[in-house]
Amino acid sequence: MSAELSYMGVDLTRPRVAFFELSSCEGCQLQLLNKEASLLDFFNLLQVVQFREAMSEKDDTYDVAFVEGSVTRADEEERLKIIRKRAKILIAFGSCACFGGVNQLKNRFADQDWVKREVYGDFAIDTQPVRPLADIVEVDVNIYGCPVKKEEVERIVTDLVVGKTILYPKYPVCMDCKANENICLFDLGEPCLGPVTRAGCDAWCPNNRMGCWGCRGPAEAANVEQLKNIMAEHGFSSETLLDRLECFGGFSAFVDGLRQPQQDTGKQGSGI
Ligand code: SF4
Ligand code: SF4
Ligand code: SF4
Repeated sequence: MSAELSYMGVDLTRPRVAFFELSSCEGCQLQLLNKEASLLDFFNLLQVVQFREAMSEKDDTYDVAFVEGSVTRADEEERLKIIRKRAKILIAFGSCACFGGVNQLKNRFADQDWVKREVYGDFAIDTQPVRPLADIVEVDVNIYGCPVKKEEVERIVTDLVVGKTILYPKYPVCMDCKANENICLFDLGEPCLGPVTRAGCDAWCPNNRMGCWGCRGPAEAANVEQLKNIMAEHGFSSETLLDRLECFGGFSAFVDGLRQPQQDTGKQGSGI
């Protein structure tokens, strides 16, 4: 890491940082650029050497690599390995990178050729089952969310720069939701994964009167069985629960026991 600035005689280390995208909507990178009020302060902490969404310069010497998106093609796998070799710290940036994200919905279909035909017709395209970064390379830091929450990114990056341990909330979204004095959406007739989902987004969706879809993955000791009971008490089927649990890939370890066998074409246990 290089020191290029000083404040009152003390060197400030500014890591060289690069941003990359694999299969993604690029919304996580956009999220970072969107909040202009703190953008300059944030970038003062870093030397950004590659960030296609924000600049045309490119330099392959970096300390920290933010990688957005999941791996769905052979060339992405190779690219990711090269990024890993070059970076001292590799950050899985957003739920696509951490869990496969919405892209991994296609893995629910047993017949991938059928999926390819349905989506692309006869167009020749390289597309493989979706994998999160950690299935291919070692990941040092996960930043969850679809999209990531910018305030959390800023906190994590600041902790990295000053050498602090990176901590995540272990408690579920419900804690923040209640602190924000929201009326529980179950009482308003909507399902919500807040009881089992890792907090850190400040209950973004319930604050806006929408149930949580679990984009940040499971909270510590997430009790999905109990959530299934809560859903049933409020008249929601296990298919409704499955739809949400499977949406971003973070709950993949929990869904097998809940999945019902399906009978139709290429679908396998999609619950839809
Ligand atoms: S995590 Fe969500 S917002 Fe981020 S790249 Fe993936 S789909 Fe887009
Ligand atoms: S709305 Fe969702 S996050 Fe909020 S208290 Fe109810 S279940 Fe929890
Ligand atoms: S409330 Fe749930 S779905 Fe919405 S941003 Fe937070 S973790 Fe993601």
